[in-house]
Amino acid sequence: MSKQTPILLAGPCSAETQEQVMQTAQQIHTFAPHAIFRAGLWKPRTSPNTFAGVGQEGLEWLIQVQQTIGMQVATEVVTPEHIQLCWQAGIHHLWIGARTTANPIMVQALADALRTMNMQEKEQITIYIKNPINPDINLWIGALERFQQAGINHIVAVHRGFSTLYQGEWRNAPMWSVPIELKRRYPHLPLLCDPSHIAGDTKRIEQLAHEAMMIGLDGLMIECHHCPQQAWSDAAQQLTPTDLQVLLNNLPKYHQQDDTHIDTTLVQLRQQIDEIDNELWQLVVKRLEIAQTIGEYKRTQQMPILQRERYEAILQKRIEWAKEQGLSEDIVRRLMETLHTESVKRQL
Ligand code: PEP
Ligand code: MN
Repeated sequence: MSKQTPILLAGPCSAETQEQVMQTAQQIHTFAPHAIFRAGLWKPRTSPNTFAGVGQEGLEWLIQVQQTIGMQVATEVVTPEHIQLCWQAGIHHLWIGARTTANPIMVQALADALRTMNMQEKEQITIYIKNPINPDINLWIGALERFQQAGINHIVAVHRGFSTLYQGEWRNAPMWSVPIELKRRYPHLPLLCDPSHIAGDTKRIEQLAHEAMMIGLDGLMIECHHCPQQAWSDAAQQLTPTDLQVLLNNLPKYHQQDDTHIDTTLVQLRQQIDEIDNELWQLVVKRLEIAQTIGEYKRTQQMPILQRERYEAILQKRIEWAKEQGLSEDIVRRLMETLHTESVKRQL
């Protein structure tokens, strides 16, 4: 019934020097011996004027972590050549970055590079697929399918948030509804959260990690550097090993329960939700029927369907009601927009 320990990938954004890689790995290993050590060698950076990774040179540092510390290591692959280099070096955990997932031709080329391996080789490989930078669940699923169709069985999805025009409080907006929908469609696909790239700074990483566990995700990928102030990339969001240890110690342990173990309290609460939803649906249907009748009336009077002032007045009134109940304006706007769009469709 209880879940296994969450999967953990931890390590610096980029491998910088042999010393940095070894120091960081050693420190993480002392409190998280099962962690997979992550470090980027080839970095698809947004700006050309930023550190783009040490490249091939860092492969031997990662191998040293594997051989002398005994941690498994993971790195990002962007081209088929990277896959080849990693395989030859003995690195079997490979992640696909958000910018690459957004490009189906690149993803296919990477999947094809693995397709030619024999079955035993494929079994040794684990591919971690970050969500694409835009919140397009089908693009993410397309990438998962490309690797699946290439014969890779060990596939893990990684939620790292989504780019938005207005950055707001996050570096990448969490938009939890997207990973939740992925989990709903693929319950057996391990899904990790990368709170570092969502937060963009160290302040809210712990909060996001908690949320990921509460939602029922399977683990975390977190950036950690032995000396974050000196990091060559993503310095603001890398945790010190000590802070990572604190985060892991505080991480709530949520257990996925199968239905046979659910107690009566939850059963009763779920029944209430079912009843409320049933009433809600009936009301929604009734509302739409009335909207349709109004539509017929408007047609006879040759009135346009969209009565902007009336809609604005309705919206403001609902927002007022919601605020009185302690609900946010945002939920009213989204609900009303859905209802209104459907009403207009019916009136058409
Ligand atoms: C990274 O993991 O360092 C990275 C570049 O991530 P993403 O592809 O999620 O931006
Ligand atoms: Mn990074």
